Amino acid sequence: MIVSEDSAIAASKTAYTEMLKPYAEKGEIDNDPVLKNRVYKITGRLIAQAIKIRPETKNWDWSIKIIDDPETVNAWAMAGGKMALYTGLIEKIKPSDDELAQVLGHEIGHALAKHSAEKMSVAMASQVGVMAVGIATKSNGLALTGASLAAALAVQMPNSRAAESEADRIGIELAAKAGYDPHAAVTLWEKMAKVGGKRPPEFFSTHPAPEHREQKLASLIPQMMPYYEQKGTRPVYNLN
Ligand SMILES: [Zn+2]
Repeated sequence: MIVSEDSAIAASKTAYTEMLKPYAEKGEIDNDPVLKNRVYKITGRLIAQAIKIRPETKNWDWSIKIIDDPETVNAWAMAGGKMALYTGLIEKIKPSDDELAQVLGHEIGHALAKHSAEKMSVAMASQVGVMAVGIATKSNGLALTGASLAAALAVQMPNSRAAESEADRIGIELAAKAGYDPHAAVTLWEKMAKVGGKRPPEFFSTHPAPEHREQKLASLIPQMMPYYEQKGTRPVYNLN
Protein backbone atom coordinates (compact mmCIF):
# COMPACT_ATOMS: atom_id res chain seq x y z
CA MET A 1 0.00 0.00 0.00
CA ILE A 2 1.58 3.28 -1.04
CA VAL A 3 -1.08 5.57 0.44
CA SER A 4 -1.03 5.47 4.24
CA GLU A 5 -4.32 5.56 6.09
CA ASP A 6 -3.44 8.96 7.58
CA SER A 7 -2.81 10.54 4.21
CA ALA A 8 -5.94 8.83 2.81
CA ILE A 9 -7.96 10.41 5.63
CA ALA A 10 -6.52 13.87 4.98
CA ALA A 11 -7.07 13.62 1.22
CA SER A 12 -10.58 12.24 1.69
CA LYS A 13 -11.58 15.19 3.84
CA THR A 14 -10.83 17.60 0.99
CA ALA A 15 -12.39 15.31 -1.62
CA TYR A 16 -15.55 14.85 0.44
CA THR A 17 -16.17 18.58 0.80
CA GLU A 18 -15.49 19.14 -2.88
CA MET A 19 -17.70 16.25 -4.04
CA LEU A 20 -20.65 17.36 -1.94
CA LYS A 21 -20.34 21.03 -2.89
CA PRO A 22 -22.34 20.90 -6.17
CA TYR A 23 -25.20 19.16 -4.38
CA ALA A 24 -25.01 21.52 -1.41
CA GLU A 25 -25.23 24.52 -3.73
CA LYS A 26 -28.48 23.13 -5.16
CA GLY A 27 -29.88 22.38 -1.72
CA GLU A 28 -29.67 18.64 -2.36
CA ILE A 29 -27.94 17.56 0.85
CA ASP A 30 -29.89 16.33 3.88
CA ASN A 31 -32.97 18.18 2.66
CA ASP A 32 -35.54 15.73 4.03
CA PRO A 33 -35.57 16.15 7.84
CA VAL A 34 -37.39 12.86 8.48
CA LEU A 35 -34.95 10.86 6.37
CA LYS A 36 -32.00 12.73 7.86
CA ASN A 37 -33.15 11.90 11.36
CA ARG A 38 -33.58 8.24 10.44
CA VAL A 39 -30.21 7.88 8.71
CA TYR A 40 -28.25 9.81 11.36
CA LYS A 41 -29.76 7.73 14.15
CA ILE A 42 -28.92 4.41 12.49
CA THR A 43 -25.44 5.57 11.46
CA GLY A 44 -24.72 6.99 14.93
CA ARG A 45 -25.50 3.61 16.49
CA LEU A 46 -23.26 1.81 13.97
CA ILE A 47 -20.36 4.23 14.45
CA ALA A 48 -20.49 3.74 18.22
CA GLN A 49 -19.90 0.02 17.58
CA ALA A 50 -17.19 0.72 15.00
CA ILE A 51 -15.31 2.72 17.63
CA LYS A 52 -15.44 -0.28 19.97
CA ILE A 53 -13.77 -2.40 17.27
CA ARG A 54 -11.13 0.24 16.34
CA PRO A 55 -10.91 2.66 19.30
CA GLU A 56 -8.64 5.15 17.51
CA THR A 57 -11.48 5.88 15.08
CA LYS A 58 -13.19 7.92 17.79
CA ASN A 59 -10.86 10.69 16.60
CA TRP A 60 -12.18 10.44 13.05
CA ASP A 61 -14.41 13.24 11.92
CA TRP A 62 -17.20 10.78 11.02
CA SER A 63 -19.85 12.09 8.69
CA ILE A 64 -22.81 10.92 6.60
CA LYS A 65 -24.59 13.09 4.08
CA ILE A 66 -27.74 12.20 2.17
CA ILE A 67 -27.60 13.24 -1.48
CA ASP A 68 -30.99 13.96 -3.02
CA ASP A 69 -30.62 11.96 -6.24
CA PRO A 70 -33.62 9.62 -6.61
CA GLU A 71 -32.17 7.89 -9.69
CA THR A 72 -28.94 6.75 -8.07
CA VAL A 73 -29.00 3.59 -5.96
CA ASN A 74 -25.72 4.00 -4.17
CA ALA A 75 -23.78 4.64 -0.98
CA TRP A 76 -20.07 5.03 -0.34
CA ALA A 77 -17.49 5.57 2.36
CA MET A 78 -14.13 7.28 2.20
CA ALA A 79 -11.17 6.91 4.52
CA GLY A 80 -11.83 8.46 7.91
CA GLY A 81 -15.54 7.62 7.86
CA LYS A 82 -16.75 10.18 5.33
CA MET A 83 -19.92 8.66 3.89
CA ALA A 84 -22.70 9.42 1.46
CA LEU A 85 -26.08 7.84 0.81
CA TYR A 86 -28.16 8.60 -2.30
CA THR A 87 -31.94 8.93 -1.97
CA GLY A 88 -32.32 6.52 -4.92
CA LEU A 89 -31.33 3.71 -2.60
CA ILE A 90 -34.14 4.65 -0.24
CA GLU A 91 -36.73 5.14 -2.98
CA LYS A 92 -35.94 2.09 -5.07
CA ILE A 93 -34.95 -0.42 -2.38
CA LYS A 94 -37.34 0.84 0.29
CA PRO A 95 -35.13 -0.63 3.03
CA SER A 96 -36.40 -1.26 6.53
CA ASP A 97 -34.25 0.26 9.30
CA ASP A 98 -32.63 -3.16 9.75
CA GLU A 99 -31.79 -3.31 6.03
CA LEU A 100 -30.55 0.27 5.91
CA ALA A 101 -28.29 -0.54 8.85
CA GLN A 102 -26.75 -3.31 6.73
CA VAL A 103 -25.96 -0.89 3.88
CA LEU A 104 -24.42 1.66 6.24
CA GLY A 105 -22.64 -1.01 8.29
CA HIS A 106 -21.15 -2.37 5.06
CA GLU A 107 -19.86 1.12 4.17
CA ILE A 108 -18.39 1.61 7.63
CA GLY A 109 -16.80 -1.82 7.19
CA HIS A 110 -14.95 -0.55 4.11
CA ALA A 111 -13.68 2.46 6.07
CA LEU A 112 -12.60 0.38 9.07
CA ALA A 113 -10.79 -2.10 6.85
CA LYS A 114 -8.92 0.69 5.00
CA HIS A 115 -10.29 -0.29 1.61
CA SER A 116 -10.36 3.28 0.32
CA ALA A 117 -6.66 3.72 1.07
CA GLU A 118 -6.06 0.56 -0.99
CA LYS A 119 -8.10 1.88 -3.91
CA MET A 120 -6.38 5.27 -3.70
CA SER A 121 -3.06 3.47 -3.97
CA VAL A 122 -4.28 1.77 -7.14
CA ALA A 123 -5.51 5.09 -8.56
CA MET A 124 -2.20 6.81 -7.82
CA ALA A 125 -0.05 3.91 -9.03
CA SER A 126 -1.91 3.36 -12.30
CA GLN A 127 -2.15 7.08 -12.99
CA VAL A 128 -5.88 6.65 -13.41
CA GLY A 129 -5.98 9.81 -11.38
CA VAL A 130 -3.97 11.80 -13.86
CA MET A 131 -5.95 10.53 -16.83
CA ALA A 132 -9.26 11.15 -15.19
CA VAL A 133 -8.56 14.76 -14.27
CA GLY A 134 -10.24 16.04 -17.42
CA ILE A 135 -13.27 13.79 -17.06
CA ALA A 136 -13.71 14.46 -13.37
CA THR A 137 -13.40 18.20 -13.71
CA LYS A 138 -15.77 18.26 -16.67
CA SER A 139 -18.48 16.01 -15.28
CA ASN A 140 -18.40 16.87 -11.61
CA GLY A 141 -16.75 20.26 -11.53
CA LEU A 142 -14.22 18.88 -9.10
CA ALA A 143 -11.28 21.09 -8.32
CA LEU A 144 -9.12 18.29 -7.02
CA THR A 145 -5.60 17.11 -7.70
CA GLY A 146 -3.22 14.45 -6.50
CA ALA A 147 -4.26 12.44 -3.47
CA SER A 148 -7.58 14.25 -3.08
CA LEU A 149 -8.50 13.42 -6.65
CA ALA A 150 -7.48 9.81 -6.02
CA ALA A 151 -9.79 9.81 -2.98
CA ALA A 152 -12.68 11.06 -5.11
CA LEU A 153 -11.95 8.48 -7.79
CA ALA A 154 -11.61 5.69 -5.26
CA VAL A 155 -15.32 5.85 -4.42
CA GLN A 156 -16.08 5.30 -8.12
CA MET A 157 -13.73 2.32 -8.41
CA PRO A 158 -14.92 -1.22 -7.76
CA ASN A 159 -13.88 -2.92 -4.55
CA SER A 160 -12.32 -6.34 -4.87
CA ARG A 161 -14.56 -9.28 -4.08
CA ALA A 162 -12.35 -10.01 -1.06
CA ALA A 163 -12.92 -6.45 0.18
CA GLU A 164 -16.65 -6.91 -0.39
CA SER A 165 -16.73 -10.08 1.71
CA GLU A 166 -14.79 -8.34 4.46
CA ALA A 167 -17.16 -5.34 4.45
CA ASP A 168 -20.16 -7.70 4.51
CA ARG A 169 -18.73 -9.52 7.50
CA ILE A 170 -17.95 -6.33 9.43
CA GLY A 171 -21.25 -4.73 8.42
CA ILE A 172 -23.52 -7.50 9.70
CA GLU A 173 -21.61 -7.54 13.00
CA LEU A 174 -21.77 -3.76 13.50
CA ALA A 175 -25.48 -3.82 12.69
CA ALA A 176 -26.22 -6.69 15.09
CA LYS A 177 -24.26 -5.01 17.88
CA ALA A 178 -26.13 -1.76 17.17
CA GLY A 179 -29.44 -3.61 17.56
CA TYR A 180 -30.36 -4.39 13.94
CA ASP A 181 -31.63 -7.78 12.83
CA PRO A 182 -28.91 -9.75 10.99
CA HIS A 183 -31.57 -11.46 8.83
CA ALA A 184 -31.89 -8.10 7.07
CA ALA A 185 -28.44 -8.56 5.51
CA VAL A 186 -29.90 -11.33 3.37
CA THR A 187 -33.14 -9.55 2.46
CA LEU A 188 -31.26 -6.34 1.63
CA TRP A 189 -29.10 -8.01 -1.01
CA GLU A 190 -32.09 -9.90 -2.39
CA LYS A 191 -33.93 -6.59 -2.81
CA MET A 192 -30.83 -4.96 -4.29
CA ALA A 193 -30.50 -7.74 -6.88
CA LYS A 194 -34.12 -7.25 -7.96
CA VAL A 195 -33.73 -3.54 -8.70
CA GLY A 196 -33.11 -3.46 -12.40
CA GLY A 197 -34.93 -1.49 -15.00
CA LYS A 198 -32.75 0.39 -17.43
CA ARG A 199 -29.54 -0.20 -15.50
CA PRO A 200 -28.39 -2.17 -12.46
CA PRO A 201 -27.85 -0.16 -9.27
CA GLU A 202 -24.63 1.89 -9.24
CA PHE A 203 -24.02 0.17 -5.95
CA PHE A 204 -23.15 -3.05 -7.79
CA SER A 205 -20.53 -1.41 -9.99
CA THR A 206 -18.54 -0.28 -6.95
CA HIS A 207 -19.58 -3.13 -4.66
CA PRO A 208 -19.44 -6.23 -6.91
CA ALA A 209 -21.30 -9.14 -5.38
CA PRO A 210 -18.93 -11.79 -4.04
CA GLU A 211 -19.94 -15.34 -4.88
CA HIS A 212 -22.78 -16.65 -2.76
CA ARG A 213 -23.13 -13.34 -0.91
CA GLU A 214 -26.57 -14.09 0.51
CA GLN A 215 -25.59 -17.62 1.57
CA LYS A 216 -22.42 -16.39 3.27
CA LEU A 217 -24.35 -13.72 5.16
CA ALA A 218 -27.07 -16.21 6.09
CA SER A 219 -24.41 -18.51 7.55
CA LEU A 220 -23.24 -15.67 9.83
CA ILE A 221 -26.70 -15.03 11.31
CA PRO A 222 -26.53 -17.60 14.15
CA GLN A 223 -23.35 -16.09 15.60
CA MET A 224 -24.78 -12.56 15.21
CA MET A 225 -28.05 -13.24 17.03
CA PRO A 226 -26.59 -12.97 20.55
CA TYR A 227 -25.33 -9.45 19.74
CA TYR A 228 -28.70 -8.49 18.30
CA GLU A 229 -30.65 -9.93 21.23
CA GLN A 230 -28.50 -8.27 23.88
CA LYS A 231 -30.60 -6.28 26.35
CA GLY A 232 -29.97 -2.70 27.38
CA THR A 233 -29.48 0.60 25.58
CA ARG A 234 -27.08 0.92 22.67
CA PRO A 235 -24.51 3.73 22.55
CA VAL A 236 -24.90 6.40 19.87
CA TYR A 237 -22.18 8.51 18.22
CA ASN A 238 -23.45 12.04 17.80
CA LEU A 239 -23.43 13.10 14.14
CA ASN A 240 -24.11 16.61 12.99
ZN1 LIG B 1 -18.84 -2.80 -0.66
